[in-house]
Amino acid sequence: MEKGLAVSPGIAIGVAYCILEIFVNPDRKRLEEHEVNKELARYEQARERTAVDLAALQAKVEEQIGKSEAAIFAVHQTILRDPAFTNKVRHWIVEEHLTAAGALHRLLEEYTTIFSKTGDEYLQERLNDIRDVVVRLSAYLSDVLNEAEESGLNGPLIVIADELLPSQAVALGEADVHGIVTQAGSQTSHAALIARSRGIPAVSGVSGLLRKVKTGDTVVVNGSEGIVSINPESEELAAYRKLEREFFHLKDQLAANRDHPAVTRDGTALKLLANINNVKDVESAVAMGAAGVGLYRTEYLYLTHENVPDEDEQFAVYREILQKSPQHHITIRTLDIGGDKTVAYLGHNHNEANPFMGWRSIRLSFEHPEFFMSQLRAIMRCAAELKPGEAGEVNMLFPMITNVEEMRKARHLVRKAEKSLDERGVPRGQIKVGMMLEVPAAAVAIHHLLELVDFVSIGSNDLVQYLTAADRDNPKVSGLCQPLSPAVVITLKYVIEACNQANIPVTLCGEMAGQPRAFLLLLGMGLRSFSMSPAFIPTIKELANLATVEHAQRVVEKVMEMKTTNQVKRYLRMELEAISPDIARLDTE
Ligand code: PEP
Ligand code: MG
Repeated sequence: MEKGLAVSPGIAIGVAYCILEIFVNPDRKRLEEHEVNKELARYEQARERTAVDLAALQAKVEEQIGKSEAAIFAVHQTILRDPAFTNKVRHWIVEEHLTAAGALHRLLEEYTTIFSKTGDEYLQERLNDIRDVVVRLSAYLSDVLNEAEESGLNGPLIVIADELLPSQAVALGEADVHGIVTQAGSQTSHAALIARSRGIPAVSGVSGLLRKVKTGDTVVVNGSEGIVSINPESEELAAYRKLEREFFHLKDQLAANRDHPAVTRDGTALKLLANINNVKDVESAVAMGAAGVGLYRTEYLYLTHENVPDEDEQFAVYREILQKSPQHHITIRTLDIGGDKTVAYLGHNHNEANPFMGWRSIRLSFEHPEFFMSQLRAIMRCAAELKPGEAGEVNMLFPMITNVEEMRKARHLVRKAEKSLDERGVPRGQIKVGMMLEVPAAAVAIHHLLELVDFVSIGSNDLVQYLTAADRDNPKVSGLCQPLSPAVVITLKYVIEACNQANIPVTLCGEMAGQPRAFLLLLGMGLRSFSMSPAFIPTIKELANLATVEHAQRVVEKVMEMKTTNQVKRYLRMELEAISPDIARLDTE
């Protein structure tokens, strides 16, 4: 039994598919002379199949998600065709009798050594791309994908990786993936967000796992408690199978509430919105009964793009999202790049000692006025697509606002963008302008900022990491980075009350919006709008239907007296179990 962080709830049982096996257990075998030609042929065959795969993926992603998201696969095809890449691999197979997998491992080691010396972020990004290509090739060489087609691996898969690369996460959509486990990562890492948005049970931060499990093993993922069990005894397995069935049944039951109103037992209406990263996610938002899109993270459009997408390209994507969104209600967040997400073409290729506290998000956008203005104009043009008299709204959300000066500047740029569209004679619609509240300084001075915004969206993921000075992606300090710690609770209550008193609509769009245990607390504080991964909407709606505001307010009073995170967590867990033991099972640790 292995312990990690519970990042996406539920139970899954399946066959292990270890993505990064090659890096952990490199193939050190030396070939016999007579095996060399056969190995070369195997490598060429893997290369061809990978090329076919990448082209198909590019076409599929282009069709289903968008051209810009698909561009990454064109980059990977270029790497695959690069003669320097392939000549090295061939050379080591022929001259040193390495296996193809062994040669690829050496190639990656070589690139890693060279690239890490430069400290150049752009090159680091390219290194990730090379890794991606090597992983794909290796999968064919180790016959994992062949087996998946022919034998035991076509069942439900449990993907096990050190951490998931973005392209792997996209490709996962095609396989029958029931669970995800990563060695690295945390509650808010890429793999965790993907797993949650698809409703797949997942555990992160299980160190050393790839040394203990191999492709083909039977693995149980308990994403509610953060436990992974490898080849369990038959009794344990039977018990987990029962839990898995119950989990599926519960999810089906909950999803049936998609057309029910989101209202508490004592009649208070709530807004349950979806967080999305691309056009595809809008389908999940619709399927899960979201009332609209509460947070569209536009950076994914840029992360998968080789160059700055121009105004028309951005407009086309925003318009598509608006058209497909429930009630044509969307909140588009301007670029939130930096920290852990970098885009080389925006000059983001220098080293910073503290990237999360450095040149990221709105700070970076301000210094790229050309690009930033094009994004503002694209959002305003999208708003013009709303038909008169039809329900709908387009909101513009600025991330990481720290002080009044920044919000004034953002407002100024909004006016400038409006003017430039008017001068060009391009139609623009009415938009509301809001700020993400995720910097403690903005929370403390919220009253000043409220004079400048039409709405507030609390980004609890960042707010918690900045308030506790504990990196949200570092498992070593995850004990500190806790949304239910007393300091966070006091801050959230202060901010929500300030917004309500000033009559400024407030939403919370961090991960805690979809956490059953946090729901009563937020409801009791006066929050009425929640934005979360689509997969959580049915659960939170069911919980809302069972809860009353009056009870939630009493819960807040009690929690405000508590001095430790554990006390708060235990108490909220108890309250949740009293309301619904079923929903408590969908809660994560
Ligand atoms: C947040 O910080 O809570 C948030 C919603 O934004 P992101 O997770 O994209 O930083
Ligand atoms: Mg944030």
